[in-house]
Amino acid sequence: MSAPDKNAADKKAAIKLAIIGWPVTHSRSPLIHNHWLAAHKINAHYGRYPIDPKDDFKARLQAMAADGFIGANVTIPHKEAAFAAMDAVSSAAQKLGAVNTISFRDGALYGANTDGDGFLAGLDDAQDAVKEVADWRKKPALVLGAGGAARAIIAALGRAGLSDIRLVNRTREKAEALSGLVDCLSIGDWQDRERLADGCGLLVNTTSLGMQAQPPLDMALDGLQPKAMVSDIVYTPLITPLLSAAKAGGHIGVDGLGMLMHQAALSFEIWFGTKPPVDKTLRDLLLADLNAVSDSDENRD
Ligand code: NAP
Repeated sequence: MSAPDKNAADKKAAIKLAIIGWPVTHSRSPLIHNHWLAAHKINAHYGRYPIDPKDDFKARLQAMAADGFIGANVTIPHKEAAFAAMDAVSSAAQKLGAVNTISFRDGALYGANTDGDGFLAGLDDAQDAVKEVADWRKKPALVLGAGGAARAIIAALGRAGLSDIRLVNRTREKAEALSGLVDCLSIGDWQDRERLADGCGLLVNTTSLGMQAQPPLDMALDGLQPKAMVSDIVYTPLITPLLSAAKAGGHIGVDGLGMLMHQAALSFEIWFGTKPPVDKTLRDLLLADLNAVSDSDENRD
């Protein structure tokens, strides 16, 4: 059984929270949440809580509850196991079968999933920043990749009212498995991605292509609508080759920090009832941390 991170701050704090994952060494969630906890003068500490996939996940959560934790985030590979362990879940978590936010309350486990709404909030921020009234909600969107992040993003795009969402993935069967997620989802072949981008107001890369130590995403952006939103949820490096190409093509590039910060803000709101600011101070804190560490396995929420 893996040992939780029991540092001095964790023991002293009245309220305990953590990110659960395997591994969790490189997660930025402690940096984000401890920044907000300090800003709100909440006597709490947010740590790292590694759980080995071989462990009994529910038993580990019960041990956390007994140890005084009030909440936790969940990252790879435990989001589905977390869903299965909950007593009740939000509608977004129910739709995805995955939980990224746990509240330990009155002996029960409540699960939510803030990834999709965090992604949408990141898009809205990027659009506000360039003062564009891009109507991507009324245009087709193309999503690349069919992993856990794509699942949350596609469901969120459905909630946002899009009527034409296209999905391609290197392994087509994995994309097919998501076809029931929203009514307006159509599946295409990975090699047709440029053609399927025709007329799209939004392109989202949820694959690991473009990430440090990975090949870049090979794709021309000519078919997109002028001034389309181009989102890359990879954030190491922050400016991926896709985002550079988007800028060169006059599109609105959206980096992966928006989703990271906003999904965290929505979790914080669930635990404390107040939405913390997603602002330049936090972004600068994360940028400094990203610049300080260079590692291929650190692109974690
Ligand atoms: P995942 O479940 O492992 O999915 C990975 C996806 O990448 C799959 O669709 C996979 O395709 C595709 N892929 C990997 N290598 C590829 C290649 N060489 N060519 C084409 N496609 C390839 O991962 P995830 O949890 O969805 O995360 C995906 C990415 O988003 C990661 O880089 C992660 O760090 C990042 N992320 C960012 C945030 C944020 O807040 N910004 C949040 C979550 C995740 P196959 O199915 O064919 O293998």
